[in-house]
Amino acid sequence: MQERELKKTVEQIVREFLGKEKGLENAEYGVFSTVNEAISSAKVAQGKYEEKSLECRRKVISAIKKEMSCFISEIAERTFEETGMGRVEDKKLKIQLVLDKTPGVEDLLTEAETGDNGMTLYELSAYGVIGAVTPSTNPAETLICNAIGMLAAGNAVYFSVHPGAKKISRWTVAKLNEIVYKTCGIQNLIVTIKEPSIQAAQEMMTHEGIDLLVITGGPAVVRQAMQSGKKVIAAGAGNPPSIVDETANIEKAGRDIVAGASFDNNILCIAEKSVVAVEDIADYLILQMEKAGAYLIKDEKVIQKLEQLTITPNGEPSRKFIGKNANFILQEAGVNVDFDVRLIIMKTKETHSFVMKEMLMPILPIVAVQNFDEALNVALRIEQKLHHTATMHSQNIGRLNLAGRKFQTSIFVKNGPSFAGLGFGGEGATTFTIATPTGECTTTARNFARKRRCVLTDGFSIR
Ligand code: NAD
Repeated sequence: MQERELKKTVEQIVREFLGKEKGLENAEYGVFSTVNEAISSAKVAQGKYEEKSLECRRKVISAIKKEMSCFISEIAERTFEETGMGRVEDKKLKIQLVLDKTPGVEDLLTEAETGDNGMTLYELSAYGVIGAVTPSTNPAETLICNAIGMLAAGNAVYFSVHPGAKKISRWTVAKLNEIVYKTCGIQNLIVTIKEPSIQAAQEMMTHEGIDLLVITGGPAVVRQAMQSGKKVIAAGAGNPPSIVDETANIEKAGRDIVAGASFDNNILCIAEKSVVAVEDIADYLILQMEKAGAYLIKDEKVIQKLEQLTITPNGEPSRKFIGKNANFILQEAGVNVDFDVRLIIMKTKETHSFVMKEMLMPILPIVAVQNFDEALNVALRIEQKLHHTATMHSQNIGRLNLAGRKFQTSIFVKNGPSFAGLGFGGEGATTFTIATPTGECTTTARNFARKRRCVLTDGFSIR
């Protein structure tokens, strides 16, 4: 028998077996018809998971990482097919990053205090069932990353996914659920519903079976979750500026900014959304950006045309252009370019919509200012206290330090592309849920766990 046919037969057997299990008639690898059914099944699964050892959790995480690595191209292609956003090659890198650098059980560090009165332990244990909301921009990446962290901390998870990415999200939930089941014999640790909707997301947020909400998305969903009365970890919108001063390595700054801002066509929340450059070096920086694959627009009329096209009459970025290739956007604006443009750039004022709105498109406005002090003030206004991400290119330690203090962003990248802040070419773990308004920063397993204090009096202090 051909290897493919054999794999198909094994999959069919597992599918039939899962379908026949008592109470799971409507389920297919964790995909249910109703919110209530999905959450109730996850609750049962979490009860079983609680009884398992840490070693079992380690095996589950390692199986997810190993087995999902066979599907990197498939996930990237399916995501692109369904959402029409981004670039397949960049998506592959994002998924690989999640599998390589999302921490598991090792992230749950125990703290201890000992003394004359004995020992106190602080340990991290499961919340129960987490309700995780995922975006259309990084649907599978967020889902896999959240699943690893949440399962490592001993939870089950209900995924409320974006309707615009429901097929790839459903497929990913089913695949993860299958891997987990094969590894630890528990099904429905990762669940979702067949037909996601805003209404279903809201039903989940107030369902009594949900113990913690983890929200990755824009302002509306964060606001909605905050009204639920439950604990919320919220990873909201950003508008990351990038400062470049006259002391920077301008050639490298140009390359880094184009790499970060054009990655997956700018749909990452951490991607550079504008540049604030000191006047003296602004034109040289632009030249370096052009060398790195950016296309400069000088004609005011074309800039206006682009604005009319990409921003709807109600002031929102047009879905038609979010995450689209720069060449497509240029073509729609009547500009034909005969090479693969990574990024469209132009000089604008600070108040331009391209600067102040989170466009999520490969369009990067550049604001020229007199000096570093002005650059910092302008960049602070652009960031809008979203506490998300900022980047800066400079060799001046004092200025880098000052900007780091003033920004108060969850991620601040110095002398590198924004994605270094996700551990891609930078140190540290990765995540696709950067908790901004609620302050947990780059979330990992430890954020998805409840901290508990466990006291033993008069013993176990051996100093
Ligand atoms: P979105 O806000 O449209 O959707 C995100 C999720 O929220 C989806 O699952 C959607 O169905 C749900 N949702 C939206 N409005 C809702 C409401 N009123 N009630 C209940 N659920 C609701 O965002 P998107 O376009 O999919 O993703 C892009 C946005 O997400 C950007 O603003 C980006 O900055 C942000 N984002 C933030 C992070 C982060 O880590 N901070 C990561 C990725 C994306």
